[in-house]
Amino acid sequence: MLDKLSSTLKKATDKIANAVFLDKKLVDSIVKDLQRALLEADVNVSLVLNITSKIKKTALDERISGIEKKEHLIKLLHDELKSILGETKDIELSPTKQNTIMMLGLYGAGKTTTISKLALYYSKRGKKVCAIGLDVHRPAASEQLKQLCDKLKIPAFISPDLKDPVKIYEKFAPQLKEYDLVLIDTAGRDALDKSLIDEIKSISKTAKPTETLLVMPADIGQTAKKQAQTFKSAVSITGVIITRMDSTAKAGGALTACAETKVPVVFIGTGEKPHDLELFNPESFLSRLLGMGDLESLMQKIHSVTDSSALEKTQKNLEAGKLTLKDVQQQLESMESLGSMDKILSMVPGLGKAKEKISSEQLSAQQQKMKNYKHAINSMTPYEIENPEVLEKETSRMSRIAKGSGTSTTDIRNLIKQYKMLNEMIKSQSTMAEGNLDQKTMMKLAKKFGRKKFRM
Ligand code: GDP
Ligand code: MG
Repeated sequence: MLDKLSSTLKKATDKIANAVFLDKKLVDSIVKDLQRALLEADVNVSLVLNITSKIKKTALDERISGIEKKEHLIKLLHDELKSILGETKDIELSPTKQNTIMMLGLYGAGKTTTISKLALYYSKRGKKVCAIGLDVHRPAASEQLKQLCDKLKIPAFISPDLKDPVKIYEKFAPQLKEYDLVLIDTAGRDALDKSLIDEIKSISKTAKPTETLLVMPADIGQTAKKQAQTFKSAVSITGVIITRMDSTAKAGGALTACAETKVPVVFIGTGEKPHDLELFNPESFLSRLLGMGDLESLMQKIHSVTDSSALEKTQKNLEAGKLTLKDVQQQLESMESLGSMDKILSMVPGLGKAKEKISSEQLSAQQQKMKNYKHAINSMTPYEIENPEVLEKETSRMSRIAKGSGTSTTDIRNLIKQYKMLNEMIKSQSTMAEGNLDQKTMMKLAKKFGRKKFRM
């Protein structure tokens, strides 16, 4: 389901998070990837251009820098995508009154199949559900409904001999009263014509549905906009169900088209089987596309602990191709105020999996290492911090620091070694082709430094 879009979005957020410099070349390549993936998912061109131009503008905005810019960008991408996915709507079934959901849609949209899915969905949630077949146009329509429902042990009321949907409804009306939820299957047409509108209106007048849901297959892409608009103005609909999300790359078109028409998508169909139905929630759908953990809470925490002036200085040093031990100290301190490594790993998007591979011993060893580094730096004089090379020349300094900080000279040697490597890398990075870091090197070094990934 939108796998390609998902992997491109994940790559884009990774690129943003991992880049030390977001230079024009890198931003251009991210924007280009995004545009291609969104267009392939059939998202409207003007929506795509709108999103990507905002991203570009923020990325190249010189007034924002460093971590703040990455946060801005990822949040911007997230919010823009969320807004094109529309509003959340939950169908809340009344516990006291009877609920009736009427399905509408053209031929083959997936109405009957979706009725069986909804029947399963709500009966699993403790509701007494039944279905009624009012598709009088296709000879086998009511049989199809009955068969699907029989398999799920859901009562389906059908009357193949009657040709008037309103009469069928009235015939079963007394029996329907026993159910918490009645699902009404209706007939489709090739297009929304007068006969369909009249039929829907007369069924609606009699059955008084609490929800009227338009069913559309995802593979119609952006055409969904026109269809939703036409149905919305002809008969009132309270929501949409998009089916066949599993069998098309164009689902982005159908989803965003509904948002544009301001009709909420309530469910999505993700296969032919009765359990292939999901509640549609733009936020969680997007989290899945972006492969995110709890991004918001991480961002909030970063905001609350980040000393922005110190960060700016670090950023300046980075841009000048120089990282000082002071910067390292600052980084380690903000890591600590963020909480344990373990917690951080589970919050960072995309690191959920990495976390599983790290044992808790490894984690606490990393944490200890970071603590040692921090204590060691705290025991250094400002002169030593500015000129760490003197430590290697004068081993007495190293012993003094080790003693004073409760660490070993090996710890300090490692710290200096890794600090140097990191500095080397940052220097060479500015000459790198894409302006993007050699991520493998970065990961390796950052890992040695006690951080799994040098991101955000
Ligand atoms: P109706 O004419 O609107 O009642 O459409 P049907 O319910 O008869 O469905 C038409 C076809 O779409 C059937 O072959 C269904 O199996 C198929 N279908 C419905 N929903 C989905 C879905 O979410 N995924 C897939 N792959 N097929 C679906
Ligand atoms: Mg049908």
